[in-house]
Amino acid sequence: MSEINEAKLLVIDDDPMNREILYRHLRNLGYSDITLTDGGKSGLEIVASNSIDLILLDMMMPVMNGLETLTHLKANFQSRVIPVIIISALDEKEMMLNCIQKGAEDYLIKPYDRVLLKARVSACLEKKILHDREVLNNQKLEAAYKELAIAYHDLEVVKNELEALSHRDGLTGIANRRYFDTTLEREWNAAHREKKRLSLILFDIDYFKKYNDTYGHLAGDDCLCQVAITASQVIKRPRDTLARYGGEEFAIILPDTNEVGAAFCAEQIRYAIENLNISHSSSQINSCVTASIGTSTICPHEQISTAQQLIKEADLALYQAKREGRNCVKVWSTN
Ligand code: GH3
Ligand code: MG
Ligand code: MG
Repeated sequence: MSEINEAKLLVIDDDPMNREILYRHLRNLGYSDITLTDGGKSGLEIVASNSIDLILLDMMMPVMNGLETLTHLKANFQSRVIPVIIISALDEKEMMLNCIQKGAEDYLIKPYDRVLLKARVSACLEKKILHDREVLNNQKLEAAYKELAIAYHDLEVVKNELEALSHRDGLTGIANRRYFDTTLEREWNAAHREKKRLSLILFDIDYFKKYNDTYGHLAGDDCLCQVAITASQVIKRPRDTLARYGGEEFAIILPDTNEVGAAFCAEQIRYAIENLNISHSSSQINSCVTASIGTSTICPHEQISTAQQLIKEADLALYQAKREGRNCVKVWSTN
């Protein structure tokens, strides 16, 4: 209801004459949407299927009197917000009080004064308009909050996707160097805290420059992807991290893994790469693509060392593997 005069009024009175008089008064006051009914029951039915803004309710009625009707109206979630003006011939303080306590907005005694009727009806309707507006605003606010929550959720999803992308190597899809660096730092601290060993594998494709020269850069890219997939299939534990360390060099962080475990894992990777059987006619050691591998292991809580030292040692082992004929695994040892 936007205008007060467009309000939907309901008159409940068993006396046809009273109904007619009240109808005429309300029409004269400018209200055009007025429904008339002769009893509480039919009144409740009308309220259940129409949006009524104000009820003018007679008190003395057969079957269901005004007080009972009022009680029903106020007990229902939908209809309890509709203001009710009792219009009764009973000029009893007790009864008036009872109606007000049961939720009636006002009480008019027949024969009522028209000026009073006008003032009370418009006061009730203004209140109803304010209430309706508040409900509508609350609904809009709720809808806006819901939209905001969805937008925040979508933003979070995009943020997570972007973050995941920023951790990934564009060519092979495995973790990139940046992710490797932060993970190694984290695992180093965890190993120190948990008094566990930490191992690192570094591996490098043999004669990869020659591979590119022979088969082209795109074939080289494809080879790198195949090697990455193969290595990712070898490592099994959820905390193991395979990353592209740079160019044709890969790294694997193995938390809670000793020298034997790291060497075992490295040998599996070497074997799996060789068994990919990717032809490499210009390799000086084999007819297919191979990799050289170095491993290092450290107990951060026992040794004064750093994560950089772990990398350095795996790198030294890797170059030992290169020096000693390639396509092999070397375990770093201080002896
Ligand atoms: P070694 O056996 O001693 O490891 O020799 P190598 O030829 O594998 O090593 P080198 O460091 O001389 O060459 C590495 C090559 O890897 C050179 C470079 O073009 C190639 N490479 C690095 N990144 C990529 C890449 O993303 N795609 C391709 N196709 N090639 C790459
Ligand atoms: Mg190489
Ligand atoms: Mg290299």
